[in-house]
Amino acid sequence: MSDHDTIELPETIELPRLLDFYELQSAAHTGIHEFYENLRHGQLSTTRCRDCGNLQFPPRIVCPECQSDDLEYVDLPHEGELFAFSTVRAGAPLGMQSEVPFVIGIVDLGDVQLSSRIDNAEYDDLEIGDPVELNVTEIDGPVDHERVFFRFEPKR
Ligand SMILES: [Zn+2]
Repeated sequence: MSDHDTIELPETIELPRLLDFYELQSAAHTGIHEFYENLRHGQLSTTRCRDCGNLQFPPRIVCPECQSDDLEYVDLPHEGELFAFSTVRAGAPLGMQSEVPFVIGIVDLGDVQLSSRIDNAEYDDLEIGDPVELNVTEIDGPVDHERVFFRFEPKR
């Protein structure tokens, strides 16, 4: 006879909020909320240092070159080229496990390169140098405010 209580495991387990980093998009949570504000309006942007001109991606609150905090937001182009790509078949981040396989890549926007999901694409159909364009994606989740993130997809 056991004196331990038994517990029942739920059928599904909701993504723990502490692991849901996309929540951190509001002015209360991050110094780069302007990046997300711009993205909600369909504009990809990043920060540039007013003192030394250094352009960073991802956006910063302090310049990594000269440590100035006098940064301004500048628009980035919405079209670029596929610099490199791969496919995720296993080990996807939390919340994306059901979406494998999917393509990830490095997109060259000219002044900056960034890593991104590449949507609406099959790995075997892609080549380095392919033109890609911005695809702003809404993110579902357990918070009230609208959340977005950037992805790219082959240019139509
Ligand atoms: Zn600087």
